[in-house]
Amino acid sequence: MDLGEKVSILSGAAKYDASCASSGSGHDDSGAGGFRFGARTPAGICHSWTEDGRCVSLLKVLYSNVCRFDCAYCVNRVSADTPRSSFTVNELVELTGEFYRRNYIEGLFLSSGIFADPDIVMEKLIETARTLRTESGYGGYIHLKIIPGTGEKLIREAGIWADRLSANIELPTDKSLQYLAPQKSGKVIFSAMDDFSSLSSQFEEDRRRIKSTPSFAPAGQSTQLIVGASAEDDRTIINLSDSLYHKFSLRRVYYSAFTPVGVNGRAGISDPRLPDISGPPQVLDQAGPPRQLLTREHRLYQADWLLRFYHFSAGEILDDESPFLDPHLDPKTAWALKHLDFFPVEINRADYEALLRVPGIGAKTGRRIIETRRSRSLSFDSLRRLGAVLKRARYFITCSGSFIDKVEDPKRIRRVLADQDGAGLQLPLFEF
Ligand code: SF4
Repeated sequence: MDLGEKVSILSGAAKYDASCASSGSGHDDSGAGGFRFGARTPAGICHSWTEDGRCVSLLKVLYSNVCRFDCAYCVNRVSADTPRSSFTVNELVELTGEFYRRNYIEGLFLSSGIFADPDIVMEKLIETARTLRTESGYGGYIHLKIIPGTGEKLIREAGIWADRLSANIELPTDKSLQYLAPQKSGKVIFSAMDDFSSLSSQFEEDRRRIKSTPSFAPAGQSTQLIVGASAEDDRTIINLSDSLYHKFSLRRVYYSAFTPVGVNGRAGISDPRLPDISGPPQVLDQAGPPRQLLTREHRLYQADWLLRFYHFSAGEILDDESPFLDPHLDPKTAWALKHLDFFPVEINRADYEALLRVPGIGAKTGRRIIETRRSRSLSFDSLRRLGAVLKRARYFITCSGSFIDKVEDPKRIRRVLADQDGAGLQLPLFEF
């Protein structure tokens, strides 16, 4: 098999991993020889977003899509009838180096099927990263997947060469893992996250004492959760994310809407353990998750944003009575409409925490309000100039005692604000 075919197979096999938050590059790599010399964008290149919203290109591939495991939701599982291939370390190093030198990519996202003992697979990923760093003059970003079952010693080694590591939790409960991914266990995945956290603190501590200590995965660790392949509600997912952020200092939890298999041209890889979810895909006639799952994924990202930047606790976002996020309303507005007694917030007096609760006021605008208020009081106009989205905030604020709109009929407000997706959050949803 030539390198072009390998790239086509192994980039196609990697695209369902959302833990580098990539979008497709928009090209069609489905044909034979996806390594299209002369094409505008070579196969395997996808886009990711940095914390400051910058778009970067990554080569996103698997080392191998041969896998011993049988995870029902995965195109690479042992029982799937799909073409198989593997790179060699040299092939991958040359390919990455070449793409990097030509400015096609700024980084590499490398994962693999479990074709052998986890430590052997992990060693191949590490060898690729180490060779790139020490022999190819590669200075780009590297994100390596921690293969489930990898020992602490290899996680340490991987963190020396990579910018970010990620161990995918995949499903929200052990029960679902046992059912859909029987060879995986939550305990093993959490243990890898725990090893990462301890190593990260240890390296930081060492670096404080010994300046020459190398940095350990400076972009931290992340994970991916598949949404909709198992029956758990959003509350279970958000509670889990909250505890992962606190326990293992994860930088990001990525949510990936489950793509039903056996539909939209992906016939031959369906599995009876999966739910029968059908519906219009995001783009008609293209493979992808149904629209309702994409909406759910989007709301989970918004709720996640509330946890990380808006100082909400998981219990405030969802509870026993409402275990699912409202598909028609962003979670911050949904919270505000349920807690009208908290409002109105007086813009000229409220503290930062209270400002963050107002739909239409983001973290950046909140900080600007506090800063500007030191020298003068604010009007609705100045508030708009500072970045507040008044069409959302208007129902929940006063400026020196004046209202724009009072919430007299919450149902009307709900109708007006429904489906203005993400407007209250105002920040890029992805980073890498
Ligand atoms: S371990 Fe599971 S999710 Fe990972 S490649 Fe193998 S079958 Fe797919």
